[in-house]
Formats: sequence, C-alpha cells, structure tokens
Amino acid sequence: MIPESLFTPQTNDWKLSLSRAFRRQADLLEYCELDVNGTTHGSETDFPVRVTRYYASLIEKGNAKDPLLLQVLADKREQQSVPGYSLDAVGDMAAMKAPGLIHKYHSRVLLTVTGACPIHCRYCFRRHFPYSDSSPDLQLHSEVMSYLSSHREINEVILSGGDPLMLSDQKLSSLIRQLNQLSHIRYLRIHSRLLSVLPERINPELVAVFSRFRGKVIFVTHINHPQELSGVNAQSLQLLSAQGFQLFNQSVLLKEVNDSAAVLAELSYRLFDYQIIPYYLHKLDKVQGAAHFDLPDERLCAIYRELCARLPGYLTPKFVNELSGRTSKTPVQCF
Ligand code: SF4
Repeated sequence: MIPESLFTPQTNDWKLSLSRAFRRQADLLEYCELDVNGTTHGSETDFPVRVTRYYASLIEKGNAKDPLLLQVLADKREQQSVPGYSLDAVGDMAAMKAPGLIHKYHSRVLLTVTGACPIHCRYCFRRHFPYSDSSPDLQLHSEVMSYLSSHREINEVILSGGDPLMLSDQKLSSLIRQLNQLSHIRYLRIHSRLLSVLPERINPELVAVFSRFRGKVIFVTHINHPQELSGVNAQSLQLLSAQGFQLFNQSVLLKEVNDSAAVLAELSYRLFDYQIIPYYLHKLDKVQGAAHFDLPDERLCAIYRELCARLPGYLTPKFVNELSGRTSKTPVQCF
C-alpha cells in the first residue's frame, strides 16, 4: 500500500525547489523543532549540511533521534580520526583510468559526472572525493571517449557523482548522444539519491531525455529507511517505471538509522510497492568521518540473518562490502 503524502510541492520547478534546500544546520534544526545548540552537533565546515525541503518534511518534528535526521545532521564525532577509516574508502582513485572514469569491474565503468548533490549524507563514501580534478569530458576524442571506444568489454556505463540528476536535461541529453555512438554500450545505469529526495526533478522531460538512450536504462535509488518513501515520490517514481525503466534500490546499514531487521524488512516491502527491487544492502564504507555509523560485524550479521528469515528471496537485498582493489562487490559472510 502506498501511503498518503504529507507534503505538497509548492512548485514543479526542480531548480527552484533545490534553491530552497536547507544549507545551514541551525535552520534545519529550527525547522525540525530541535535545540540548535545540541551538544552532539558538529561543525559543517568541510562537508556542509544540505537537505531538501521534501526530505526535511519527512523528519518527525521534535525527534532528535529521527532516522532521516541522523543521516544528514553534522555530528562532532565526524572530526575524530579513527584507525581503519580513510579518505578514499573504496579505492576510487586507484581505479580512475581517465578524469572522472572509474573502471573497477570487467564490463562496467562509472562516470563521476558531477560533484553536486541535493542532500549531503554524513556517511557518504565520496565526501572527500576530489571532484574538481575528476570531471569527465565526453567530447569526441576526449580521454574518456577514447577509453570507452577502445574497451569493447565495457557494456554498461554508470552515471554517478555526486548525483547525476543534478545535471541539466541539456547536459544529460548531450551525454546520452555521445554514449549512443558506442554500439557496445548497451546499458545505462543511473545511481541517484535525488530520486527520493527531490521528486520534482522526475518529470516527463527527464523521462524523455533517458528514453533517447539506445539500450536499456536502469535507475538505482538510494533509500535507507521506509520513512523516506511517501505519496509524492511514489508518483514520480512511477513515471520511471511506466516508461519501462528498471528500478533497483541500494541501502547502507547504518547504526541508529536502520539497524533493525524489522525496519529493513518494511523497507523492502515498501520499495516493492513502488516497483523497486531491493538490490544491495551495503556494509558501511570506512570513510573518515563516518565511523559513528558503524556496528560490530556480529551485530550486522545478526540483523541480516533475521532479515533473510523475514523476507522472501526476491525482496532480500544482497549484503555486500565494497573493498578496494576487488573485481566485484564482496558478499558479507553471515551464514
Ligand atoms: S547523495 Fe550520494 S554522493 Fe551525494 S552525499 Fe549523499 S551519498 Fe554522497
């Protein structure tokens, strides 16, 4: 059952909605009816707070432990240096074959097409990524296009970032035009947190842009908690599924956010209501500043085993870890 929405967008202009996002922690806390001087709040200097109005509307007022709030609130523990946590947790830099092109796995490459995001997730594994030096050029004869042309084993391009849907329709169209010239690229995958936090962005024009890709289009949403889904993003996500685009979701298992089999099972069912297949449940990437979201392995596995017992196989995400230098995601061994 798709729930009723509590939020009515004030405009269909997604850029205007984006410009109204919270950019100061104090404003967000005030909106959430919380103490702006809380003792655990951290500094926003190196990774500023950013939260769309829509996402903020899903946060329970007055609840300092709200699972959506915890994902976006700067915490003073982010400043601690914890052994084992690094700036490049998943080995992106070692796998960068051309500016903005990351090639880790045999048949697919990832393009970091923008550093911009509609929301700043405090656990983000790219929170220290050098976007200014890693912007892919997709013009004819560029390094990226030459790499893609000469590696015929690559059949899938993943648009990532940042959030690829922060690009204008014109930029996305031009990128798709370039990719359409490469006959071996049969799949275009878009990884986007924006899909669930800025529903105004998913409009018929955007659907038309992706419909021009010659092959199969896949969208991967990043939703961690069932509370992130409501009537508004249901309608927008349906625009994508109605067009025949395949929808998958990936989540991260985060302490105090979704560290419960009951919550994760509810998330899977809710995603399924929206025609989204739960695909991956990620173990936290060990990026500096995010250690407070981590849990001991035994606890993670206990949650996952209970999740498997609660869900049918088709709604059970694979529990994986992205480890630097590996040629695929690594399944977390819980059984
Ligand atoms: S939207 Fe994605 S890339 Fe942007 S901060 Fe969140 S997790 Fe990181």
